[in-house]
Amino acid sequence: MAEVLVVVEHSGGAAKKITSELLTAARALGEPSAVVFGAAGDADKLKDTLGEYGAQKIYAAESADVTDYLVAPRAEVLAGLVKQASPAAVLLASTTDGKEIAGRLAVKIESGFLTGVTELAADGTATQVVFAGAVIVKSKVTKGTPILTIATNAVTAEPAAATPSVEAVEVSVSDAAKKAKVADRVSEKKSSRPELTEASIVVSGGRGVGSAENFALIEGLADSLGAAVGASRAAVDSDFYPHQFQVGQTGKTVSPNLYVAVGISGAIQHRAGMQTSKTIVAINKDEEAPIFELADFGVVGDLFKVVPQATEAINAR
Ligand code: FAD
Repeated sequence: MAEVLVVVEHSGGAAKKITSELLTAARALGEPSAVVFGAAGDADKLKDTLGEYGAQKIYAAESADVTDYLVAPRAEVLAGLVKQASPAAVLLASTTDGKEIAGRLAVKIESGFLTGVTELAADGTATQVVFAGAVIVKSKVTKGTPILTIATNAVTAEPAAATPSVEAVEVSVSDAAKKAKVADRVSEKKSSRPELTEASIVVSGGRGVGSAENFALIEGLADSLGAAVGASRAAVDSDFYPHQFQVGQTGKTVSPNLYVAVGISGAIQHRAGMQTSKTIVAINKDEEAPIFELADFGVVGDLFKVVPQATEAINAR
């Protein structure tokens, strides 16, 4: 069976949720081999989780040459691995880093690449949502080794037990790839809520929420559901909530099992970031709001009445 390289997303040896989704997607095309970029010992820490989702092999690229620089060294090491392993495809997460590595790798190995893939068929046909969500496209890479970045929460992770072997990768990176070194890493304020793009439930507030103080209502509903909090651009531009939580064309793309849009009209640029959510609930006082065209369930009402009632009812369960 053909080998499929999967670039592991992790934080200090703890796998992110997208990694199990990538391994599941890879199994449609062949046997996944996980590529771990990190510090010494990270691959060992990841071994059990990667095996649980079907990784047959782990390539451990553990070196300061990949952790201390921006993405160029990782693209270079991957290009070497592609030459060595001749995989059927390379899969990465559709994150900022993942997309940049994919682009750089595509140039190096002269292959086609597709980003933001939401579905991957066994013959390599990839589904993408494009033009701010107005069009769904099915495409296939026709040149070289297909490089695909997979959208978070698009694939349902399914376990498939394997016992991966670990192969150390000799990391030798050119000076050209080491032109941008990481000077400092500052963590975003730690929140007890799930990460927005990985959460299975997201509660987002829009301009209708009215103020930064009122966002406590959105946070209260989110906490009752164990959800992440998101915001529309209008809410962010009005300083109701920080930009890192913006959902939409110029914000983050989310695809949770449940998306609750509160006081959000449903502009196309907002839809672009949330319309692949599995179930959409809208709370809006305007029954003509476009968000209701997209919503599976809608409540026409004043959010200042509906949200506290919903939060109380959920907390009471
Ligand atoms: P509004 O459109 O003002 O809607 C507010 C809603 O709240 C209304 O439907 C109203 O009925 C409802 N409401 C008001 N009071 C209450 C109440 N008490 N109870 C219940 N409902 C109430 N937008 C994004 O979100 N994300 C993006 O990434 C993004 N990128 C953009 C990129 C470009 C290039 C451009 C041009 C625009 C972009 N936008 C983006 C902006 C987008 O076009 C909309 O302006 C924005 O999404 C509107 O946000 P909103 O729905 O919160 O506000």
